[in-house]
Amino acid sequence: GADISSRNVDVLSASFPLCMQHLHRSLRRDSHLKHYGRLQYTLFLKGIGLNLEECLIFWRQGFNKITDDTFNKEYRYNVRHAYGDVGGDSNRRGSGYSPFSCQRILTEHPPGPGEAHGCPYRHFSVENLTNLLTAVGVRDSDVLRGVKEDKEKMKYHMACNRVFEYAHKQELKRVKEDGTWGASQLETIVHPNEYFKRSYLLRN
Ligand code: SF4
Repeated sequence: GADISSRNVDVLSASFPLCMQHLHRSLRRDSHLKHYGRLQYTLFLKGIGLNLEECLIFWRQGFNKITDDTFNKEYRYNVRHAYGDVGGDSNRRGSGYSPFSCQRILTEHPPGPGEAHGCPYRHFSVENLTNLLTAVGVRDSDVLRGVKEDKEKMKYHMACNRVFEYAHKQELKRVKEDGTWGASQLETIVHPNEYFKRSYLLRN
């Protein structure tokens, strides 16, 4: 499979759920993300297997409009902290914080103006959501209509799983037919890292 390294995140992002694709695109557009966006994205990247050193390289290169000095002073510590490399809490030292589940992303810290964290299925308007989906290649009108209906019913997971199924239609057909994936691998996705894991397994 593709290697999990800083230089590969652009490629890997095709397998990210929409929340993380939005963070990635915002980072590339603005060369910056605000605090909760950095936290949500850093923990996700840790969860996909990006190690601390590579994650620091990723953020340093992503924040390409600031000096090394500013980066080291303002951003390095938080990345190390998320990985448990620094910080006072002895329970967390060593492993750091866990990547956020959908439940957490859906219910805690709704994004304000200029913030890119959260869940687009919940926190975007229908129009902005449709535009984002179209931009990442989801252009099927039935899927877009289904997502809109899921959103109106506040079934955000359903919308996300609908898009996953659409984006991996061929691969899912194959593993269902040849029996490689059973019921447990086909349960509803409720964690961004599970979304990535499945997509990565199906495509690599
Ligand atoms: Fe991310 Fe979960 Fe929302 Fe999907 S449902 S976009 S994985 S927070």
